[in-house]
Amino acid sequence: MARQRRDYYEVLGVSRDADAKTIKNAFRKLALRYHPDRSQEPDAEEHFKEIAEAYAVLRDPQKRADYDARGFAGVPGVSPEDLFTGLDFDDLFGGLGFGSGAGPEGLFERIFGRRRAAPTRGDDFEIWVEVSLERVLRGGEESIRTERPRPCAACGGSGAKAGTSARRCAACNGTGQRVTTRMRGDIRLQQISTCPTCHGRGESIPDPCPACAGRGETRSEDTLRVRIPVGVEDGMRLRIPGKGGPGPRPGDPAGDLYVSVRTAPDPRFERRGADLWREQSIELTDAVLGNTIEVATLDGSASVQIPAGAQPDRVFRLRGKGLPTLGGGARGHLYLKLRVRIPEHLSREEQQLYERLRALAHGRPRRGD
Ligand SMILES: [Zn+2]
Ligand SMILES: [Zn+2]
Repeated sequence: MARQRRDYYEVLGVSRDADAKTIKNAFRKLALRYHPDRSQEPDAEEHFKEIAEAYAVLRDPQKRADYDARGFAGVPGVSPEDLFTGLDFDDLFGGLGFGSGAGPEGLFERIFGRRRAAPTRGDDFEIWVEVSLERVLRGGEESIRTERPRPCAACGGSGAKAGTSARRCAACNGTGQRVTTRMRGDIRLQQISTCPTCHGRGESIPDPCPACAGRGETRSEDTLRVRIPVGVEDGMRLRIPGKGGPGPRPGDPAGDLYVSVRTAPDPRFERRGADLWREQSIELTDAVLGNTIEVATLDGSASVQIPAGAQPDRVFRLRGKGLPTLGGGARGHLYLKLRVRIPEHLSREEQQLYERLRALAHGRPRRGD
């Protein structure tokens, strides 16, 4: 149920000119009262979120100034990061029995639905595939050979030699995270990063698997079948879920594979979006006298009426003879740009005829004379 947003100062029950200490004390008092693990209040979790958000804004001088000036519009989308960054739970809840460790931090993660630092799924990969114009026209499956990392078969992705197992990482106590606390002035800053010893896995491997050297993954080649949609656009990315890199720990989901589609160069046609272009050569006599010629299209042939006196570079459009738009919508057009073939070798008879044509042409006034 959507709750009417209340003014942040009202939420924390402080005046608009309250100083940082007053705000912190108010937050602490309310956080204890509505702590979902101990509160008997109805809607304790909703209240807790509300006060956490109010505190995230009001304890940050810049955000507080933005909020004072423009209200909620000044602080759009307060993120879970805002609620965590720089919060020192020891300091906030110290001496009250749930100040440190997994207590309130675990709670924040739970109610704001977010884990930090350690990756929880494999990497995404991108590969390229070239498709023919016929594939763009009709769609269908392409086989793509890829080499990508996959969970090591010898150790099931654990990285530990058969018969041994990974141990909890001593450096981070299995959390996969490194928490460093430092002082800036009189403010304690907590920074959370990926554990450098175990790279976020939370485990160390005393006896590495010989097949993968403890990495838990091996590179192997395989063939993927990818469905190419009709009218696929040049540069389009198709997502194949779960075919990226393996998850960082056994059981974690793999990343996704993105297949970027390129149109393969084609000697017959040039693709421009859904349209096709081609230079169409015709005989000099057809250009002069006009004719109906048969031209090849992508999926057949078509008759084109060349009018008498057709000039080079003239463009003819064949409606609907291009490529389909994505999903099989209306088709683009085929454009033919005229090229006129000048004969290089003439038979004796042709030679005589061209001589006569020249004599006739010299006998008549030329255009522009
Ligand atoms: Zn292995
Ligand atoms: Zn570690």
